[in-house]
Order: sequence, then structure tokens, then C-alpha cells
Amino acid sequence: MTGTKSLLVVGRSSSLSEIFEHSSQFGFKPDAVLSLGAKDVEIPAESVPVFFWDNTNKVIDFNGIKIAFAKSSSPELEGPVDILISPTLASAEIRGVGEKLTPWYHFVPGAYYEVEPFYSNGRGTRLVSLGPVGSSEKWAHLVQIGLNVTPARPSTGVNFYNVKASHRSDLVWGEPELKRASQRSNGQSNEKPSKKQKRACYMCLDSPAATQELVVATGSHVYLSTARGPIQCEKVMAQLGCAGHVLLIPRTHIPSIARNGRSEDQLELRKFEIALGSMYRQHGLEPVTYEFVRDRTVHGHTQVVPIPASAVDQALQQMQSAIVNRGMPLSRQPPAGDYLVVRVSAQPTIYAQLPFRDVDLQLPRAVLCKVLGLEDQAADWKQCILENEAKDAQETQQLFEPFNFLNT
Ligand SMILES: [Zn+2]
Repeated sequence: MTGTKSLLVVGRSSSLSEIFEHSSQFGFKPDAVLSLGAKDVEIPAESVPVFFWDNTNKVIDFNGIKIAFAKSSSPELEGPVDILISPTLASAEIRGVGEKLTPWYHFVPGAYYEVEPFYSNGRGTRLVSLGPVGSSEKWAHLVQIGLNVTPARPSTGVNFYNVKASHRSDLVWGEPELKRASQRSNGQSNEKPSKKQKRACYMCLDSPAATQELVVATGSHVYLSTARGPIQCEKVMAQLGCAGHVLLIPRTHIPSIARNGRSEDQLELRKFEIALGSMYRQHGLEPVTYEFVRDRTVHGHTQVVPIPASAVDQALQQMQSAIVNRGMPLSRQPPAGDYLVVRVSAQPTIYAQLPFRDVDLQLPRAVLCKVLGLEDQAADWKQCILENEAKDAQETQQLFEPFNFLNT
């Protein structure tokens, strides 16, 4: 097998043209599409290869990638394979096939859920159930597979194929999160941060630890602050008169607005992003926005970095390849578990699932520094702390004032 292939796996579908419409939003064409549905649809001309579920047991070879379609145990099915597609997981027979074939990925159609990666017979398996194409749940999953790419890093010693039906939901990703979300909406959350935690948090505005002089604008739910140790690009600074690298921070002590915020938090965040975009564009710059959405983040924040408009294509391309090179799967919807979300200018949003360990929190900064030719600022923001941070914040405030929607 040479190089890495990207395969787009999609749920059951009634219209394939929709799939190709959506897949073009990734900014690149997948090498093949694997459909969990039957071939009852027309394939658009000049499209990528599409493999359908045709109700038979078989293993196909796509550029060295072994893809098994299995409805029952049969001698044609020989492992190990890279990807297994089965119509269900309900029978012990199919789970036995999974154990025998030890796929890196096992896909089934149905409702969307993902299982924590697990080991079976010494190989890691990621099991994903996808919803119907076009439904409101996740129905597409991009698989990057190739030489030296280990797709799953199991965090649990439990083999899902052998787990009793009554215990399987314990291993489904997102389940505790859904429980927490429903508790929150019922006002029953017992996970409120303690006063002590908030006092020590330098992102809580009412905390003594907060860096008040960096605050640019304060909304009802979100506030705008300059970044400590901003990326300092001469071209950008010549345009703006300040570094322009800012943070959007929820006023409540939550790990992420995207995941934990209320709709009013999300709406105000979006308003800030739009206002900042207009501000940068007036100076020939484009925003790159990114956030690490992780449950363990103490107080969430979204970073916004302006780059010259001429650098947008390069930034998008390098961001995608940096993510793929680290073996992180890209998707067009928020994946289950922890993820990195990046938006480069008006390009489609990129989501990258984070590994369990060794998350490189400097990755987006490092990519942007490389694109801007500022490698020396990539590794450590602490070395980039401005001599006069308060002045930089004041200049940012003046710059933002005409775009500040809070004034109207
Ligand atoms: Zn806080």
C-alpha cells in the first residue's frame, strides 16, 4: 500500500448526488466512497469509485486496502481486513466475524453512535454506526488509511465484540455527555464549578486572576480579549497597528461554547466572529478561527488569528495536511469525543478528532506560524508575550469599535 487514502463512508442513502455535493465541501475528493446502503441509486458520471452493500459476503481490495462486506460467517471472509461493513451488530455471528477479521474500522448502518476504540485479537478496532444520508444525525465518516497509520488507539481493555448486550451502552462514546446535557437542561447539574475554582480561573471575568487590561469588549454571554503571547506577523501588524490575535471567551466557566454553551452563548459568539471578520477584511486580512473542544478544558476559548488574504489557501491546505499527518480523522461534522475545530476564512469548517493521549495543543498555532514564516513563534506563546500588552489591547479596542455590534 502506498500513501494514505481517504475513504468517505456514508450511511444508507436514497440520493448519491447529495453525497458528492457534501464530499466536495471537504475541499478535496475522497479516493472512494463506501456506502452502507444498497445500490438503488445512480452514480454521477466521472465520480470516484463507489462500493455498495450488495448483501453478499466478500472481501475487496482497493489499492491494497482490504474492505470486507459481511452479513454472516463464511469462508470467503478472511482477515485481517482494514474496514468491515456489516448490516447489523445484533447477532453473535456477526460479532464473531468482527473478531475473526479484526478490522481497523467496523461500520454499521442505523442510528449514529461510536464505541470507544477497543482491542480484539491484539488489533485496535473503531466501531461506528452511521445514520441515514441527509438525516440530522452524523451520516458520513472520513477514514484516512494507509501505511504506518494506526487508526485506533484503544483506551480500554474491553473487547466490544464479547460484551453482553446489557453492558454495551457503557462503551458508547458520548453517552455520559448526553446524560450531562439532559441534566443541564433540567437544571439538575451537580457539576457547577466551585467558587474556589472560579477564583483561580484567569478566564472568569469576575476572578481576581483575570487579566482585565486585555479585555476588548464584553457581551452578555461572551467577551473578546487579546491573546497573551499573540502571533506577531509584521505584515498583519502594519495593517492593523496591533497583533490582532484575539480570544473569544464564554462568560460562564464552561469547557466549550460549541459543546456546553446555551444557544444565546453560541449566537453571541457567532456575532463576534462575524464582526471580527469584517474588521480584518477591511485591512486585506482573513480570520482563522480555532478551538480545542475537550471535556477537560477548564474554561473554553476560541482563538482568532488574522492572516493576509493571500495566505488563505496555503493555511487551509497546511492545516488539513498537518491534521492528517498526525493520524487524526477529518470530518465535516463535530465527531464524538474530543475534537479540534478550525475555520479558515469562509472555507468549510474542518473538524479533527483528537487522539486520547499526546494532544498537540500548539498544532494550529504552529501551522499558522509556518504559513506566515514565523517558525520561531510556533512553540511557546509565553516567549511571545508583548512588552506592552495593555497598549495592544487598547489599539485592538479602537480598531474593533466601528464593528462592535454591542454598541447598536
Ligand atoms: Zn473560568
